[in-house]
Amino acid sequence: MGDRYSKIYIGGAWVDSEGSETISVVNPATEEVIAEVPAGTPGDADRAVAAARAAFETWGATPPAERGKYLGRIADILSARADELAETISAEVGMPIKIAKMAQVAGPLAHLASHGDLAEEFTWEEQSGGALVVRAPVGVVAAITPWNFPLNQVVNKIAPAILAGCTVILKPSEVAPLTAWAIAEAAEEVGLPPGVFNLVSGFGPVVGEALVRHPDVDMVSFTGSTRAGKQIAALAAESVKRVALEMGGKSANIILEDANLDEALVAGVRACYMNSGQVCVALSRMLVPRSRYDEIVDRVKDIAELVTVGDPKSDVQLGPLVSEVQRDRVRSYIDKGVAEGARLVTGGSEAPDGLPTGYYVRPTVFADVDNSMTIAQEEIFGPVLTIIPYEDEDDAVRIANDTIYGLSGAVWSGDAKRAERVARRLRTGTVRVNQGGRGRGPFGGFKQSGLGRESGVYGLEEFVELQNISIPNA
Ligand code: NAD
Repeated sequence: MGDRYSKIYIGGAWVDSEGSETISVVNPATEEVIAEVPAGTPGDADRAVAAARAAFETWGATPPAERGKYLGRIADILSARADELAETISAEVGMPIKIAKMAQVAGPLAHLASHGDLAEEFTWEEQSGGALVVRAPVGVVAAITPWNFPLNQVVNKIAPAILAGCTVILKPSEVAPLTAWAIAEAAEEVGLPPGVFNLVSGFGPVVGEALVRHPDVDMVSFTGSTRAGKQIAALAAESVKRVALEMGGKSANIILEDANLDEALVAGVRACYMNSGQVCVALSRMLVPRSRYDEIVDRVKDIAELVTVGDPKSDVQLGPLVSEVQRDRVRSYIDKGVAEGARLVTGGSEAPDGLPTGYYVRPTVFADVDNSMTIAQEEIFGPVLTIIPYEDEDDAVRIANDTIYGLSGAVWSGDAKRAERVARRLRTGTVRVNQGGRGRGPFGGFKQSGLGRESGVYGLEEFVELQNISIPNA
């Protein structure tokens, strides 16, 4: 992939990092290094903040419709490169290419393109309570993103921020950073004014923390682990920055006894294993009625054993995990599940057959799981499903809510009204009833899953300050 990734993008120019260190990006299927990106420095972060600050006043005063047009043109350029983007993400994350085209690229680019229309739909100012209320841009935004849906998570931050009139410094994940270069290239191609979008690659505790501490950064928008999010929130508090946090989950999938099991169990396994379980909204706890427990466990075992794992370039459902570290973490959780007394129904911590190279993990199912066990409480971020019995509806709701997280959940029932009643009792930011999708509704977490919302108009609201301008009557 050559020299393309050797520079960072600051103030509308491709520049060298101050430092000489690089970070190797590894293909988790082949274990080969596919690119080296600069390991940015705090000095790089300072330069990017200065560029973003210098661009802010003019950009913030640019009409929203014009700001939206730039985003639409960036979306067009990236759409023309959709296949290449899917190949890049598949190579750095390990998601099978066919699935990556939809989940990693088509969805995020449609979301990016929709920001053109959002400029027209949004109420930028209004008269209210005798005052002129203006939705002003927050200012200079640091966007810090993880590796599991790298383009999606970047789009969810930079599109609303730029539309709102903010200027941005993106610090992408050091594990899967490569699509950030395509975005910077597109920003350059459409002539986005210098400093509106800046890219500094590097490690979280170095570049990320430098941005979070920086007095000239007004807001940090972070997606990643709850552990890092808490550190960021604490650091940001020192300068009273606005913080938006999208963090981990341990989401419950409540299968009520009147659910269509043929659909619910296949969908439930898929919603846990998607992207090899490396999805913040993975439905990793399946809650099933005790009266049907044995039958459901048998059926889930059969479904899980049909899941295909292998080379992401081939026609499989699951590729490897993103890295050796992640693979080892997940395996140790599987060992812990066994040690704590859960029943291993299928899978396990040993490498899958016939895949000696690559960070693969067997699709794993645990039964007889008590919700207090580590595998039911901690986010595993791997293809590990826990099946937990409940006694009645109240018990199911109690177990579902018995977690520090509150990101997502699902309810399956033949009676949609009943499912909705249960859904309203879940303390989570999103709940899917049967096969329901989220549409352009808000995305984010309750409790320790986050602060704030992303997506569509709700995402845009995160990046504005309400300003009350009172003008005496003439
Ligand atoms: P991570 O927290 O390790 O890293 C996320 C980003 O934060 C990276 O860019 C990293 O460099 C940076 N970072 C790490 N420590 C930092 C610090 N001290 N200061 C500043 N920046 C720092 O997460 P990850 O391993 O990349 O991603 C997996 C996690 O992300 C999972 O916990 C998952 O649930 C979560 N996630 C949440 C959502 C959501 O929308 N709620 C979506 C996807 C992933």
